[in-house]
Amino acid sequence: MITFVGAGPGAEDLITVRGQKLLKEADIVVYAGSLVNPGLLSVCREDCEIYNSAKMTLEEVIEVMEAGERSGKRIVRLHTGDPCLYGAIREQMDELKKLDIAYEVCPGVSSFCGAAAALNAEYTLPGVSQSVVITRMAGRTPVPGRESISSFAEHQATMVVFLSACMLKELSAELILGGYHEDTPAAIVYKATWPEEKVLRCTVKSLAATAAEAGVTKTALIVVGRALEGEYERSKLYDPSYTTEFRKASAHSADSKTKETCKSEKQKKRGTQQ
Ligand code: SAH
Repeated sequence: MITFVGAGPGAEDLITVRGQKLLKEADIVVYAGSLVNPGLLSVCREDCEIYNSAKMTLEEVIEVMEAGERSGKRIVRLHTGDPCLYGAIREQMDELKKLDIAYEVCPGVSSFCGAAAALNAEYTLPGVSQSVVITRMAGRTPVPGRESISSFAEHQATMVVFLSACMLKELSAELILGGYHEDTPAAIVYKATWPEEKVLRCTVKSLAATAAEAGVTKTALIVVGRALEGEYERSKLYDPSYTTEFRKASAHSADSKTKETCKSEKQKKRGTQQ
């Protein structure tokens, strides 16, 4: 069995409990060395074979997996963040399928979530944006024309741009072309959740200058949108005048009755035990 494991965005304690258990038990680990924090491997057994896929081709990765599988070993393929985003897992899965080797996925915390945490941001603010566009500028990997940054910018939704830290002038131009005002709040989050994390707040117009000043050219996410700053509407979910599946609407927001309903689940349990 091969398990594709999401390593999380960087911090050693942001891998899932399940992912770490799989690492502890693994006989072989193939990790994406360009981005995965090598500190995560400290839980591996002494005799675990460790390969850095940054120096390998797809064929070489599959060779290691196939040989390991044939000798009954437990294999972890460790990808940064969550493997479903820019992880090149599908091509590995298709090769494994051809070889009749079973595989599964253990998800991870994607860096776009790590970046939100670093920014203390809610990407989906009522009255501002209820969608997150995850995309990238075209690089060596082309992006289909219908998915241009400018076409997404038209929606004015929150955008998180991967793999584009070295193309910020072009990114700004595309965002403005699509309809973002040049003063729209933006942020560059370098190595979110790593000890060397940098959070640079700026505007759509000043992305390139801000990154240049801080010397950021890679391992960064660009977040764009009014969700980063400014007005928004409060949620309906916690609005006292709204009834939800779990709570009846009340006219007063902070009376003793509300306090009573706000008793924690723990307090309630304690109450029933007494
Ligand atoms: N699967 C990964 C993304 C891999 S693509 C995930 O879910 O996060 C690699 C790109 O992800 C980098 O170029 C950078 O844009 C972004 N990235 C990965 N880790 C990051 C981090 N800790 N902080 C900021 N950006 C990161």
